[in-house]
Amino acid sequence: MNERFVIDDFQITLTFDEFVRHIRLEEEDDIAMMRPLFVEAMAVAKPKAVYRGCEVKKIDGDAVFIEKEVFISAVMAKNLREIGRVYAYILTCGEEIDVWSRREKDYFVYLWLDALKELVLREARTQFFEMFTTKHGVGRFSSMNPGSGNIDVWPIEQQPGLFALLGDVKSDTGVVLTDGFLMHPTKSMSGILFPSESGYVSCALCTREHCVNRQAPYDPAIMDS
Ligand code: SF4
Repeated sequence: MNERFVIDDFQITLTFDEFVRHIRLEEEDDIAMMRPLFVEAMAVAKPKAVYRGCEVKKIDGDAVFIEKEVFISAVMAKNLREIGRVYAYILTCGEEIDVWSRREKDYFVYLWLDALKELVLREARTQFFEMFTTKHGVGRFSSMNPGSGNIDVWPIEQQPGLFALLGDVKSDTGVVLTDGFLMHPTKSMSGILFPSESGYVSCALCTREHCVNRQAPYDPAIMDS
């Protein structure tokens, strides 16, 4: 049976000093203004995740059949060619902090709060991956995410198929897809987790320059082996 799991009890330990350093806030007035907002944000933040084990039924050329969904991606076909099971997942900073932050009218404060939501998502991601590893005894694993890497790695238009694998995502996480296949709240991530000894990272197949989140240099040769 492919169990489905919901996590809604992440304990975010981010401190105000870490936040201030991250957004490079230096003016005393700005720091004093942001302190109560940070406290409020941490009180409302409720990041969530849903994930589910899914069977890889068949791979036919670039077509990967995962349960009732078909994904067209040469990279995925290669990554999963000897993998029978993946975990589909969605993780979000949560609609509570998102709705709260969108009331802010000051442009710069809004941007700082946006950065705060990103930090909440990052910490939830770290905790989620740790929980996942512990619970399922998975050793080294990688993640593929629709829209990450160059456009053809896993086209974002295939996002609805991923959501379909996960059932009622909106009820459990508050995350919905827009007409352009983006997620709302925007500080959310979706993908599949799979065992990977090579440590696949989509950034190695991404030509975008000056990305502050890059985790690996561009190296298309990773697909040659
Ligand atoms: S380099 Fe940046 S944009 Fe490209 S996949 Fe990595 S994080 Fe995403």
